[in-house]
Amino acid sequence: MIVMKFGGSSIADAAGVRRAVGILRTQASERLVAVVSAHGRTTDLLEIQSRRALHGTHCVRELRQFHHQLVEDLGIPVPAHGPLFEELEGVLQRVAAERKLSHESRDLVLSFGERLSSHTVAAALRDRGLEAAALMAYDAGLTTDSRFGQARPLLQSDRGIRECLSGFPGIPVVTGFLGKDRAGRITTVGRNGSDFTAAVFARAMDAREIQIWTDVPGVMSADPRIVPAAQPLRRIPGVVAAELAHYGAQVLHPSTLEPAKDADIPIRVLHTLDPDEPGTVIDFSMSPEPGVVQAIVQQRARVLLHVGAPYLVPLEEVVARLSELCGDHHVNFDMTTVSEISATLAASDGNGHASDVESVVAQLREFADVSVRRDVAAVAVVGQRLGDDPAVVGKMFRVLTDQEISLHRISMGSDRSHIGLVVDESQVEVAVRALHAALLEKRTRPLARATSA
Ligand code: ADP
Ligand code: ASP
Ligand code: MG
Repeated sequence: MIVMKFGGSSIADAAGVRRAVGILRTQASERLVAVVSAHGRTTDLLEIQSRRALHGTHCVRELRQFHHQLVEDLGIPVPAHGPLFEELEGVLQRVAAERKLSHESRDLVLSFGERLSSHTVAAALRDRGLEAAALMAYDAGLTTDSRFGQARPLLQSDRGIRECLSGFPGIPVVTGFLGKDRAGRITTVGRNGSDFTAAVFARAMDAREIQIWTDVPGVMSADPRIVPAAQPLRRIPGVVAAELAHYGAQVLHPSTLEPAKDADIPIRVLHTLDPDEPGTVIDFSMSPEPGVVQAIVQQRARVLLHVGAPYLVPLEEVVARLSELCGDHHVNFDMTTVSEISATLAASDGNGHASDVESVVAQLREFADVSVRRDVAAVAVVGQRLGDDPAVVGKMFRVLTDQEISLHRISMGSDRSHIGLVVDESQVEVAVRALHAALLEKRTRPLARATSA
């Protein structure tokens, strides 16, 4: 069995849906599970409408028209869309009446993207003569905890998924991103999380491969939108893929690696526009080589918190409280550095609520000195056993000096597979381009100062 996941960018329009159907058809001699994201920017638009609903100014006309046009361009009826839009209107109306958008209601609103797209893709497959049906991940047994916005599957999910899919006729077109908690409330696994859903299904079904079909030729040495010279990586160890995903390579949701690694299922990242290209293989049996730089990645919109321990309060207590508060408020953090009297960490807002970081800061201030630096970004040089080659660190610092990049924080991963830097948001692209040029591009001439354009 193969689990094939199609990202939103790959099924953003009728041509994309047809391409995805074509790719599924070529592999249909084997048992397949398709996992789909919402079409194009649907989730972003739902997110915008969920916030507008707070002021009663929401409107789903644009989304309705987009889906209507898509179905019309495909020339297939998708009767499920009508009732889903009715339901969405009702949910937004409720948010407007209550003037409150809880994490729970936000997940419910965002769920409509995948609920709509799974029906479109299943109908398009049927139209091309394949047996297929839309399947909501939660109806297929995916039960999660109740951490709305970053829910995690419960152990029981594996059995549920196996039971549901073993007798499923044809290709199930499963909604990425979604689950339900034990109380039957819809949850999401976090933005960009359909990759993770694919891995969860693959693990439960003991699939032989996970294919992530996307709009670039694989996992690349940098975000090609920032570095035009970025190259696809052909084969990378699981640990490198995990670091890349964690530190910002959007092409793969960070949690995807866990279930795949656990069941030792290779992941291939493939290009929907060029299906014959080899893409990237993520291989969990490959061991890291010393001193190899593989990619430069970045995460924008980070927040740097600096927490000083008050007189007579042990720093360990402050750090424990800090971790607890970040956990309670769904704030993800990393790049932590601890000194005798203070701890600093780079945090990103776990699920899109800016108020979550604010809440952590407000509660920390009740017992400690906290300073906050916004408008910073994290840049990570990712590779294998990076400390083994002193030239890597030497080159990094030369580049940063040449480009006059101020550093707010430096850290190295405990397994030395990344060196992390916190820089001003305004300098992130310059830093990424310059580091990529120095560490990953063969040059014949000295590097000119990178520009911010
Ligand atoms: P999908 O809709 O298929 O889930 P995403 O937009 O989530 O696609 O991820 C693919 C995008 O990730 C690419 O278009 C690319 O711009 C971006 N990206 C960022 N860093 C990398 C990287 N290191 N390698 C490949 N793509 C990357
Ligand atoms: N549709 C969701 C998002 O845009 C999940 C995904 O695309 O993976 O975040
Ligand atoms: Mg994605």
